[in-house]
Amino acid sequence: MQVLIAEDDPISRLALETKLSQWEYRVIGCADGNQALRLLLEPDGPELAILNWDMPGLSGPDVCREVRKRRVGPYIYTLVLTAKDAVPDLVSALEAGADDYLTKPFDSHELRARLLAGQRLLALQRELIASREALRVQASHDALTGLWNRGAIMHRLEQEIDRAQRLDAPLGLALGDLDLFKHVNDRYGHLAGDAVLRQVADALEGSLRGYDAAGRYGGEEFLVLLPGCDLAQAHAAMERIRTCIETLPITIDPQSGRSRTIHVTMSFGVTVSTPARRLLDPDAFIDEADSALYRAKRSAQRNRVEMCLPTGECQPST
Ligand code: GH3
Ligand code: MG
Ligand code: MG
Repeated sequence: MQVLIAEDDPISRLALETKLSQWEYRVIGCADGNQALRLLLEPDGPELAILNWDMPGLSGPDVCREVRKRRVGPYIYTLVLTAKDAVPDLVSALEAGADDYLTKPFDSHELRARLLAGQRLLALQRELIASREALRVQASHDALTGLWNRGAIMHRLEQEIDRAQRLDAPLGLALGDLDLFKHVNDRYGHLAGDAVLRQVADALEGSLRGYDAAGRYGGEEFLVLLPGCDLAQAHAAMERIRTCIETLPITIDPQSGRSRTIHVTMSFGVTVSTPARRLLDPDAFIDEADSALYRAKRSAQRNRVEMCLPTGECQPST
C-alpha cells in the first residue's frame, strides 16, 4: 500500500520513510502541505497519509480539511503527527478531518498499529465499493446474457433521444427477435436455448461500435441503439449483424447426448429518428421498429431486416 509522508524535517522524514519501507509500504515523501494536498487529490494518489502538523504551506489539519472538502474518489485515511498534546489541539485536528493522531516523540510499534487500523478501515471501504459496484451491475444488466436489461436499455434510449435532439443528429433503433426460437427449445431443451441466447448476445454486442448499445428487451428480443445512424446506415449495420448471427457457429449441450454446433437466425425491424422527423416518445419509437419487425417475420424463412420509412410504412429489404 502507498503511504504519503508529509514532514518538513528531513531527518524525521527519512526515519519515517525507512521504517515504513521496512514494513513494506510504498512511500511518497514531501516537505510541505501544499504538495501533500496536490498528491492526495491525484486520481490514483495514496490512500493513507501521515501528515506533520506544522509544515510550510498548509498545516497537517489544513490538508485534512481540504482533502475532505475537495476529494471525490475513495476515502483517504489521515494520521496527524504533532508535538502538541493539549486536548483542544487534538480535538481541532480531528474536527478538521484527521482520522487519528500521534504525539511526538512516538513509539514505532504504536505507529505501526495505528497504520494497521487505518488499513483495516480502507479494506472495509474497498469491500463496500466492490459490493456497491456488483449491485449496480446486477441492477442494470440481464443475468443470462450480460447485456443491459430492459430497464437500463430504456433509460439509455431516453438519454440517446435527448442527445440526438440536442446535437440535431439522427438516432437509429432496431428491434431484433430470434427466428423460430421455440423450435430450438423444443428440440434441444431450455438450457440449450439459454446457451443460444448467451452466444447470440455476445455476437450482437461484439458487432456494435463502442457508442452503440444493445439490451435484452424481452425473452428472445433485443433492442439496439445506433446513435448518429440514419436509416440507410442503421439498415446496413443490422444487415451486417444479421449475417454475423446467421453464420455464427453456436455450441450447445442438448439434454441428451454430446455437445453439438447449430445455427440460428434473427430478424430485425429498423427505424430512425432524424432532425426532419423527430421521435421523442420511446414507446412510439420502439413501436415503429416493432411493426417493421412484424413485417420481417411475415416471410416463411424470416432472417430479414425490414425498415420503417418516415411515412410510417415499412419497406422490405432487397
Ligand atoms: P418467431 O420467428 O415468430 O419469433 O418464432 P419464435 O418461435 O421465436 O417465437 P415465439 O414467440 O413463439 O417463441 C419465443 C420463444 O422464446 C418461446 C420462449 O419459451 C422462448 N424464450 C423466451 N425467453 C427465453 C429464455 O430466457 N430462455 C429460453 N431458453 N427460451 C426463452
Ligand atoms: Mg419474440
Ligand atoms: Mg422469435
